[in-house]
Amino acid sequence: MRILLVDDSPDAMAVAKARLAHEGHDILCAGGGKEGLAAAARENPDLILLDVDMPDMSGFDVCRRLKQEAATCSIPVIFLSGSGGTEDKVKGLDLGAVDFVTKPFDAFELRARVRAALRTKHLQDLLRKYALIDPLTELPNRRALDERLQQEWARLLRHGGNLSIIMADIDHFKNVNDQFGHAVGDEVLRQVERRLADGCRETDMPARYGGEEFVVVAPETAAQAAADFAERLRISICCRPLEAHGKTVAVTASFGVAGHEGLKSPEALVGAADEALYRSKAAGRNCVKR
Ligand code: GH3
Ligand code: MG
Ligand code: MG
Repeated sequence: MRILLVDDSPDAMAVAKARLAHEGHDILCAGGGKEGLAAAARENPDLILLDVDMPDMSGFDVCRRLKQEAATCSIPVIFLSGSGGTEDKVKGLDLGAVDFVTKPFDAFELRARVRAALRTKHLQDLLRKYALIDPLTELPNRRALDERLQQEWARLLRHGGNLSIIMADIDHFKNVNDQFGHAVGDEVLRQVERRLADGCRETDMPARYGGEEFVVVAPETAAQAAADFAERLRISICCRPLEAHGKTVAVTASFGVAGHEGLKSPEALVGAADEALYRSKAAGRNCVKR
């Protein structure tokens, strides 16, 4: 794992580095508070060892800033301090640090505290990963979709540009389950997901919205371009039947497309795509409406 050391003293840095050698981690170094903040945002380390007393910015201020930023708030921080006063320890932990180690540190104790912090970070990363993934299709789930839409909307407000979404719903999917059973239904969902994902660019995000409904977030895409994109996705699903557990299953899907123009929130964007999807269903299914 990757550890960022932030300390203005080259001697202290060398000692900490030597203490952590042989543990097999990548050690990154920053010689001050501001440099440490920049390195944390840029490198996204798994752990930060943070000196309290630094001339350009105190470790406490660095920690406060790290915890305020979404990009760095979940990186664990261990304070390193020459003063082992209770007041400082309480302050450091209340600012969100996971531990506080007093200099000069015992090599075994420092390594054990680092291992403990990294164990917790690893579990936290796993939890976050599974909280955002749909277990059946392994696509981003509804929660991940909501997060991404909030981010894209914020970017749109700041930098302008375009944002569209495509909502897809498999047609008469209940019949697939009724006719072939749920195991085949599940496999059909996975394969539809693969066809959708294969049709997406790196910057698009296909997600499972729920049941047999999928959403594709298409940043930097105007509504008409998104409708053309949805038409290609529609064809990729109906063009040839799926093979699922030895059964040949022909499926189609209906699509609704919405662009951000004239809308006030990501929720309104999802609502507009949902309405367009409803119009596709009403128009006879296996088509794209915007
Ligand atoms: P429409 O064309 O109007 O969308 O018809 P539909 O049958 O697709 O829609 P409906 O909403 O009536 O049924 C959706 C079905 O999707 C019912 C539900 O059992 C099935 N479904 C939802 N999630 C899963 C899943 O994870 N696995 C399987 N096998 N089926 C699922
Ligand atoms: Mg359906
Ligand atoms: Mg549905």
